[in-house]
Amino acid sequence: MQRHSVEDLRKPPVLVQSLAMIIATAVPILSDNYAWLLRCSETGTTAIVDPADPGPISTAIDAAGGRLDLILLTHHHGDHIAGTDEIRARYGASVVGAKADAHRLPKLNQAVAAGDTIMVGSSSARVMETPGHTRGHISLYFADGGVLLPGDTLFSLGCGRLLEGNADEMFASLAQFKTLPGETLVCCGHEYTESNARFALHVDPDNVALAIYAERVKSLRAAGKPTIPSVMSDELACNPFLRATTIAQLADLRARKDKY
Ligand code: ZN
Ligand code: FE
Repeated sequence: MQRHSVEDLRKPPVLVQSLAMIIATAVPILSDNYAWLLRCSETGTTAIVDPADPGPISTAIDAAGGRLDLILLTHHHGDHIAGTDEIRARYGASVVGAKADAHRLPKLNQAVAAGDTIMVGSSSARVMETPGHTRGHISLYFADGGVLLPGDTLFSLGCGRLLEGNADEMFASLAQFKTLPGETLVCCGHEYTESNARFALHVDPDNVALAIYAERVKSLRAAGKPTIPSVMSDELACNPFLRATTIAQLADLRARKDKY
């Protein structure tokens, strides 16, 4: 700690609190994926989440100053991890991913599990284990900045397909998200919102909040704009998979969505 000078003591007291927060920027890649560029406002430390396409990812990193400290992986699917080794080699970043899936992820420098903390400069993310879409899926929550990176577990107005997990697991995963503050930004892995909205309106036709949100989504997409990040309070009010109150209800919704 630095000692305070007499001059410092004459200054009005300031809040002794870290002003670090994470700033998340979407990087559209492939046909409808989002990678996320994260920057700690205090230190400039930079991370990329799910850098599956090295070309646009490098362009985005270089445009932001060319610094990359960390690569964070949500799950093992190719549309999230391809490109990891090329980006690692290019910037010398270390790779963080789920310990449970270390055998099928690119070589990890840090293997994490539920409750672990990942530091991006002075901003910290809590690791949540959120199986359902895949067995070893993790989501990251930065309380500083209010940013959730749910990968393919949660989408705006939807959730991931149950490719490896079951409805019990997905229900428990979504339940963790429901406890987050309403203003949390949902920085998910795909731009699926418009088609998700059609299904959501189909199963929940009397939901006024959903009708309004779906209109907003429609005009954003018509203008060629992203609908992501969405806001947790909108998801809680409109997303049928978050609104499901029982595992059976969620299982039924997911099965119907698969055939929709
Ligand atoms: Zn996936
Ligand atoms: Fe995906």
